[in-house]
This record gives sequence, structure tokens and C-alpha cells, in this order.
Amino acid sequence: MKLKLNDQVIVISGKDKGKKGKITHVYPKTARVLVGGINQYRRHLKKRSDKTPGGIVSLERPLPAANVMLLCPHCHKPTRVGYVITKTAEKYRRCRLCDQQIDPAAKV
Ligand SMILES: [Zn+2]
Repeated sequence: MKLKLNDQVIVISGKDKGKKGKITHVYPKTARVLVGGINQYRRHLKKRSDKTPGGIVSLERPLPAANVMLLCPHCHKPTRVGYVITKTAEKYRRCRLCDQQIDPAAKV
């Protein structure tokens, strides 16, 4: 999956289309991401004790990674992600629009 924690993304499909947010959790096994403030659902909770009072709360749910695009930190546009492998066997993500490096290079 080409998305990582703390990436800024824009939603390109679904009920939150066009909204932007930051990834707060990634689920590689199901190819889903949790984005702050995106894909909110209201849940009706029953009162369990005085500390957990119940009521209607808004929760974020994970959405498919294919429904978001990475926002490039350099050109601030929604972009696809490429990978670059350096001569020293390090790998980083690259913006396909402006060709800038997105992450610090890391060992493969
Ligand atoms: Zn860019």
C-alpha cells in the first residue's frame, strides 16, 4: 500500500468526496485507512455506567485506500505515488507530478 501514517490525503470517491484529512491509522491487510474527520458514522450507544453515559456519538470508520489520493507535501496536489530505489539500496516515495521526494530514504 502506498499510503502511510500521517499522510495528507484527499477523498476521491464516496460520501466524503473532496474532503481532506490526515491518516491516523493504516490497515494493510484490508487495504483500508482511517482518516481524521472522514467517513463519520453516528452510533447510538446504550448507557453502561455513569462513566460511559451512552447517547449518539460520531465515529470514524476505515475507508478503502483506493478511495483516497495522497496530497503531495511539495506541490499540494493529489498525486499518484512512485517509488525510487537509490544506488545505496534505499527506497523512498516520489510524487509523480513534481518528481520530489516524499519520505526520507529508508533501507529496503
Ligand atoms: Zn508533488
